[in-house]
Order: sequence, then C-alpha cells, then structure tokens
Amino acid sequence: MHEWALAEAVIAATSSVLAGRDPSCLKSVSVLIGELQAIDRGIFDFALSSLWEEKPFRSASFTLRTEPAELSCRACGCGWGLEQSPGLTSANREAIHFLPEAAHAFIRCPSCGSPDYQVVRGRGVSIENIGILQSCL
Ligand SMILES: [Zn+2]
Repeated sequence: MHEWALAEAVIAATSSVLAGRDPSCLKSVSVLIGELQAIDRGIFDFALSSLWEEKPFRSASFTLRTEPAELSCRACGCGWGLEQSPGLTSANREAIHFLPEAAHAFIRCPSCGSPDYQVVRGRGVSIENIGILQSCL
C-alpha cells in the first residue's frame, strides 16, 4: 500500500541520516504531510509506528505535521491557501484530499477567478526535521 511505501521511505531516510551514529543519538523526527497529499493519515501513522518499533532508534519519537497548501495563480500571480479558496465546501475538500488533481475542478483564483494555477506547497511527504541528541554532535 501507498501509506506503507511512504512510511518505509521515511524509515530509510532516517536510517541514512543516522548512518555511522549510535541509534540512541536519534531524538525525534518530524514528518511533513502535504495538505493535498492523497494519504490515509491513520494508516500512515500505523505503518510508521509499526516499522519504527522494529528499528534500533525506536526510543526516539516521531511527529506528523500537515503542511498547508499554497497555490499560485499563473494568470495574475496571486498566492493563496485552501482556507482562502472561495466556495470550497468540506465535500470538495474531501475530494481534493483523495484526488489532489480534483483541486482544479473546485478551486479558482480568489483574485481573478482563473482556474490556471500551480501548487507551490502542500504536496507529498517529506522529513521536516531530524533531531540528534546534543551529546552526539
Ligand atoms: Zn489570479
């Protein structure tokens, strides 16, 4: 499943950063999930917790944070987030969550009304921060 593959990628990235260090040096990992990323957060959390438990750095903590979407209009240059998108219902929001491409069907530039915009932020899953214990640096 998609969520498990993403969780495995987070584990792999964490392991490679730790390479050569004592696993107990890892303090915390912060994972950023784009607001427009199609992901079941519950499954992702479960997958990451399960994989995490098997690792030598399991005493470290991880947190999941949502990266708010940021959109930029190609016509007028206006930048905005989902909160500022006019007329976006919670049903639309749900649809966008499961199919980010659907965003273009529901979202228009709040400034000029154009449906032509790009997603600047809020897509994908990334590692925001890896905390290493001070004594290990
Ligand atoms: Zn615009």
